[in-house]
Amino acid sequence: MAKRQKILVVGAGPVGSLAALYAANRGHDVEIYELRSDLRDPSTTPLNFTKSINLALSERGLNAMRHAGQARLIDHVLSATIPMHGRMIHGRRANGQLYEESQAYDVHGRAILAIDRGGLNKRLLDILEEMPNVTFFFNHKLTGADFRRNKAWFEVRGTEADNQGQRAREIETGFDLMIGADGAHSAVRYHMMKYTRMDYQQLYIDTLWCEFQIQQKPTPPDAALKSKFRISPNHLHIWPGRDFLFIAIPSEDGSFTCTLFAPASLYERLESDSTGSLITSFFDEHFPGVTSLIPPAELISSFRQNPHLPLISIKCKPHHYGSSAVLLGDAAHAMVPFYGQGMNAGLEDVRILFDILDKHARMDELLSESSGDSSDRAAASRARALAEYSAVRIPDAHAINDLALQNYVEMRASVLSPVYRLRKFIEES
Ligand code: FAD
Repeated sequence: MAKRQKILVVGAGPVGSLAALYAANRGHDVEIYELRSDLRDPSTTPLNFTKSINLALSERGLNAMRHAGQARLIDHVLSATIPMHGRMIHGRRANGQLYEESQAYDVHGRAILAIDRGGLNKRLLDILEEMPNVTFFFNHKLTGADFRRNKAWFEVRGTEADNQGQRAREIETGFDLMIGADGAHSAVRYHMMKYTRMDYQQLYIDTLWCEFQIQQKPTPPDAALKSKFRISPNHLHIWPGRDFLFIAIPSEDGSFTCTLFAPASLYERLESDSTGSLITSFFDEHFPGVTSLIPPAELISSFRQNPHLPLISIKCKPHHYGSSAVLLGDAAHAMVPFYGQGMNAGLEDVRILFDILDKHARMDELLSESSGDSSDRAAASRARALAEYSAVRIPDAHAINDLALQNYVEMRASVLSPVYRLRKFIEES
């Protein structure tokens, strides 16, 4: 085992939680600092999301969880997923008839998995909770970091002082390595920029997203789960619209979480109609069949009540500073969701980072006969590992970021084009 180190993980989202698990399995002292209260507490409002968000979990993310050193994690996670074997394209023929067309993801029948993001996060937190070398600090917001002296400052929220509008309490803590998994608007990244010449690029695309629900079919209590779904549970449903897109992902209870992706100008137009009839007529015209799955009153209230959220794409370089900090997940490479890889790539970051840290720690052990302070040697080994991590990971992170942007065109338009069908036909024959 590598020398026991103090690892601070900032952000207890899926990526931070998995990183904490990897670090804890290696015997390190792990402290997890999270801005919000515990996700498992029913009074916690999910960040940015209305109810919960369903994601596509793919082999990239699964593989990272398989290597977390907790055999039960993968079974635990898999038991709460629904396989999606392909896309289901919904449309209307020239004669007005509605159609559904299944497009398999894989000639061998392999699937991506629908999973509740909050559910996955809770499972990871449950496992971490049982580990003696892990400590949680919820309601702690990173406010400052000195990566040369290895010191960090957190504002403790929800305290008496906070409630009375007084200055919130701040704590200081030291660390060997800080893992920044604090999402697209990362504070770790912000502070790291003061220490390293970081190239940084952020792009807001002209698309907002809003969440809707297709409720489960009313069925007798003993009915099979499959009979609760109003449309096929084993597909990612797509209503392509050239300039916009509506998708539906199955949930374990028979409902579907749906997302409208459309330009801001379209949202403004739909918002301007006080009766709401423009919303239903827009859906009727462009997303055939949706108003028979979501009653118009629900469609209108979801559109009005649920937030209309932006989509950001971020690239930065490097992903680390010296031996003391590294960025993972959205903090390093937030991407638009059209390739379904944001979280998957973030989970993969964790596996690759710890593979590289382990390799350098093994090399350090082989050379342990050499002189010098062991904590200096561990820091030097970590610095080499983090530099290698940035070098290996950044080209891949940038590539998947670009692919995600390109896939928006594929999902809303190319899936309908004759060229796309011909290409698919050639690929599959
Ligand atoms: P986050 O989930 O953002 O977690 C960051 C955590 O850090 C949060 O808990 C936050 O409270 C905390 N934090 C923030 N600031 C601080 C601070 N200063 N101090 C302490 N804590 C802090 N990905 C997929 O793989 N497949 C999909 O199908 C998919 N679909 C998506 C659909 C939509 C509509 C969207 C918007 C995203 C989708 N994604 C998908 C992307 C996925 O949601 C993200 O990539 C993933 O949640 C990133 O995880 P993370 O842990 O890096 O960051």
